[in-house]
Amino acid sequence: MKLLVIVDMINGFVYDGNMAFTESQAVIDSIVKLATHFTNKNYDILAFRDEHLADSLEFRAYPVHCLKGSTESELISELQIFENIIDNPKRSTNGVNTPQFQALLQEKTYTEIVVVGVCTDICVLQTTLSLITQFYENNLDIKVSVVSDAVATFDSEAHNGAQYHDFALALMSNANANITTLEDIIEH
Ligand SMILES: [Zn+2]
Repeated sequence: MKLLVIVDMINGFVYDGNMAFTESQAVIDSIVKLATHFTNKNYDILAFRDEHLADSLEFRAYPVHCLKGSTESELISELQIFENIIDNPKRSTNGVNTPQFQALLQEKTYTEIVVVGVCTDICVLQTTLSLITQFYENNLDIKVSVVSDAVATFDSEAHNGAQYHDFALALMSNANANITTLEDIIEH
């Protein structure tokens, strides 16, 4: 069994609010294709979804975003059509730490976890490295893949998007993540 992990493809990082950025819109199509592929294969799909309380300590690091119950916190409409997506709310950049996700790993035997979404150098990087290190720690032979054309990050004056994106992919590759492409996943 394989698992597609979609990271933060929610309105607050794609369309509205303090943390939304246009580069995330460029990977929607790829992620919809991957979700369609996983659905057709009867593989699992899970969406990590930022959902903060007003007193969230994460707001020390980032502007207020994706409050629980807000539109920002909802999955983008392009993905809401997939009724098979497992919803996994989270209160930090790294959903691997949530009890819900840990319970899923206990319950299911995955051979591969494929990570897509945003941001390449923050939530995607942390999720991928956490999965790899958790599996090494427990000697679990689960392949962790990242789809290079289905992850994106933002570009700003203090944050060169292309550089951070490429560097994050290199860091994940160095940690032995399988850096792959949409075409490669769909053909195999
Ligand atoms: Zn957040």
